[in-house]
Amino acid sequence: MVTITLVQGNITQQHVDAVVNAANSSLLGGGGVDGAIHRAGGPAILNACRDLRASHYGKGLPTGKAVATTAGDLPARWVIHTVGPVYSQQEDRSHLLASCHRESLRVADELGAKTVAFPAISTGVYSWPVEDAARIAVEAVRATETSVEEVRFVLFDERAYEAFAAQMP
Ligand code: ADP
Repeated sequence: MVTITLVQGNITQQHVDAVVNAANSSLLGGGGVDGAIHRAGGPAILNACRDLRASHYGKGLPTGKAVATTAGDLPARWVIHTVGPVYSQQEDRSHLLASCHRESLRVADELGAKTVAFPAISTGVYSWPVEDAARIAVEAVRATETSVEEVRFVLFDERAYEAFAAQMP
């Protein structure tokens, strides 16, 4: 069974097999964790994203899906890009946030990744309340059958760290 660990820190500094990026559907980079990953990982990641757009995702990567590229200069082997849902008060989109975690782990299994770092997907620009996002993320990982041995949630600030810690036994 997968072990879930938590750290407060910067996901670009994690020595893991794969780092999950909270991308946007264009795959061409953005702010927040996406910008940080592209800055730290260098141009190889953006080049790989452009190739993926050209070959498979001309209309964009759909919300809840995941796809892998090189990790460039990051201390990881791969970046798994997933598109989180924008939070909505009108519509329950939690299945899409759960899908990001499930699909990222499926891609990790295809790659043979054993250690995978996740940010708190959708809790930044996409404004998902972090306590709720933490519950959905942790439940989704626990419910996924995977060969990944460690899922490390890397939380940028203390509030996000506390929200995820509250989901631990
Ligand atoms: P989204 O568009 O999915 O909301 P954001 O990048 O805006 O994505 O935010 C997602 C989460 O990532 C937020 O909790 C934000 O604080 C966090 N974050 C931003 N930079 C980093 C980083 N370098 N390492 C880990 N987490 C980060």
